[in-house]
Amino acid sequence: MSADPLARLNDDQRRAAEHGITAGSQGPLLIVAGAGSGKTNTLAHRVAHLIRNGADPGRILMLTFSRRAATEMARRVERIAAASFGERAEALAGALLWSGTFHAVGARLLREYASWIGLDPAFTIHDREDSADLMNLSRHELGFSKKESRFPQKGTCLAVYSRVVNAEMPLETALIEVFPWCAMWKDELAALFAAYVEAKQRQNVLDYDDLLLYLAHAMAEPAIAESVASRFDHVLVDEFQDTNRLQASILYRLKPRGDGLTVVGDDAQSIYSFRAAELRNILDFPKAFDPPATIVTLARNYRSTAPILAAANAVIGLAQERFTKDLWTDRAGGEPPTLVAVRDETDQARYVVERVLAAREYGTALKAQAVLFRASHHSGPLEVELTRRNIPFVKFGGLKFLDAAHVKDLLALLRFAENPRDRVAAFRAVQLVEGVGPGTAGRLLDELAAVADPAAALAAFAPPARAREDWTAFATLMAALATRSIGWPGELAALSAWYEPRLERRYEDAAVRALDLGQLAAIAATFPTRERFLTELTLDPPDATSDESGVPLLDEDYLILSTIHSAKGQEWSQVFLLNAVDGCIPSDLGTGSSAEIEEERRLLYVAMTRAKEDLHLMVPQRFFVHGQPRGGDRHVYAARTRFIPPALLPHFRQRAWPPPEAIVAGRMERPAAPVDLAARMRGLWR
Ligand code: ATP
Ligand code: MG
Repeated sequence: MSADPLARLNDDQRRAAEHGITAGSQGPLLIVAGAGSGKTNTLAHRVAHLIRNGADPGRILMLTFSRRAATEMARRVERIAAASFGERAEALAGALLWSGTFHAVGARLLREYASWIGLDPAFTIHDREDSADLMNLSRHELGFSKKESRFPQKGTCLAVYSRVVNAEMPLETALIEVFPWCAMWKDELAALFAAYVEAKQRQNVLDYDDLLLYLAHAMAEPAIAESVASRFDHVLVDEFQDTNRLQASILYRLKPRGDGLTVVGDDAQSIYSFRAAELRNILDFPKAFDPPATIVTLARNYRSTAPILAAANAVIGLAQERFTKDLWTDRAGGEPPTLVAVRDETDQARYVVERVLAAREYGTALKAQAVLFRASHHSGPLEVELTRRNIPFVKFGGLKFLDAAHVKDLLALLRFAENPRDRVAAFRAVQLVEGVGPGTAGRLLDELAAVADPAAALAAFAPPARAREDWTAFATLMAALATRSIGWPGELAALSAWYEPRLERRYEDAAVRALDLGQLAAIAATFPTRERFLTELTLDPPDATSDESGVPLLDEDYLILSTIHSAKGQEWSQVFLLNAVDGCIPSDLGTGSSAEIEEERRLLYVAMTRAKEDLHLMVPQRFFVHGQPRGGDRHVYAARTRFIPPALLPHFRQRAWPPPEAIVAGRMERPAAPVDLAARMRGLWR
């Protein structure tokens, strides 16, 4: 056996990684510590160490916050294992069969246990947009959608529903506490939610929330809980501060005594209360068990230089409530974070691009740099500038690859094949047949809903004369998919071949879109089955890129653009935060209660602590506000975020860009009237 895999850990990290292993007892463990203290790293070492000590990697459940985080974790485990026990490592880490988000793991378990809980295992999953569409359908059917009634919009209805489900909160409480402006609609909302739930069951679809809800309810059955629990010796959870009550209750049912349960989190980084995440989860964890959980705190930050860490500590130091302590680092040197005053978002974009390119000149790859923002639309002007300058980028947390209409079309076809009762998918899919419009589609869907064998009904359906020609090929293909005679991933290729001629008829840029379909086929080939492909893609879609042809190749260099929420757990050498101004952070929408303000402060802390060497907080002097919620688009004058009051300024360097001389020399505002150079030229000869 070669090098000690834990040699690079400090004493506290090591204690966490080794917890219970030598003693043979596996009592619950909580690692709670600030950003960049090596929590995720310690978790990876713990997994490698467990495997090294004989744990079966197939019986380890690793719950992360995104699919990307799960992949990253598997890679880290593999690296650590490889360094310490050579060849065997790859096979071992590759055998980490159960890692992913609560939702993805939930979907997998629900399919396996479907027959135990009266669920058809061929259920399809609705993303937020599909869910909103279905909610809207129920709204219409109940007659709540009339404009004059001012009944809440589909998105609001879905938000209320989701809150009730995730926080395990009575509707009435949710309305009073979170959505007071909808309280007058309590009875109608209750009726709507009942209709929505009924529609989902009839159509055999589950939405995001159902994945957790069904699993939690299934686990309340002792036989199921025992069976699921017996599959896992170790359950490890990263970013525990952002789990909600349902997720916690699932965990407690998986590991009622806490044996083999490790959770990791930082209360200062709790940023998902809008999705009903519960800070209490982390606070209550130690007491939830008898004997109580072991707590390990980590105090040393390995990520950021001292000036960046000092500024981040100062910002979170003003929080009203906090449990983890300040961190220290021995990474002396480095520049303080810079507050950059720019005139507007156009100059902001230019500044970022100049600095990004300059850093690349000096050897910092684009990938080692990131631009963060509070809301996805804040990056618009920057995306324009990057595109103009030909700088490749990938955007996290914004528009997804799958949001493109043609990609959605293809997935709707596949989902329809998987589950013909899925009305949202079916409605989209059948209208791809030439000559089938909403009327025919509705009629067909009603027929499919009414029969026991929708596949047979589909084959027997008689479309209007104008659609007949195209229909035959469609129905044949669907029948082949229903009987799985083609096999995976050939099915996707067959669908693509049927669909592609439609691109020509629908889109001018058909050639570019065809490349996306190729990209989708490449992604499909990395999944073992149709279900896994559909599930994982719906739950955690690939990110959009600057390059129309889809997800960039892994070895390409590109700049990262990300919402702060999606940047969780990651780090970059150089980080820019756009629009560090009041109204953006805290966001206009988040200035209601003091709890919301506190969450915005933690968001700023999360953003600042992503930086290793250089951090720039951008302060445009004026920025553009889009219509909502107060009407017309307009420019407003902005002030630096309230989370950096004058008392904290000593932690920052301040600069204006472009410097005042540059404005005088070359960038003066254009004169009120055009200068008539031609007239001057004529004057020269007079
Ligand atoms: P976050 O709260 O942002 O998720 P974290 O606590 O999970 O942060 P990690 O991402 O695990 O922190 O680690 C931060 C950085 O510190 C990584 O680059 C990691 O490699 C490095 N690091 C962690 N522990 C050590 C150590 N003992 N020695 C050297 N580097 C370390
Ligand atoms: Mg982490």
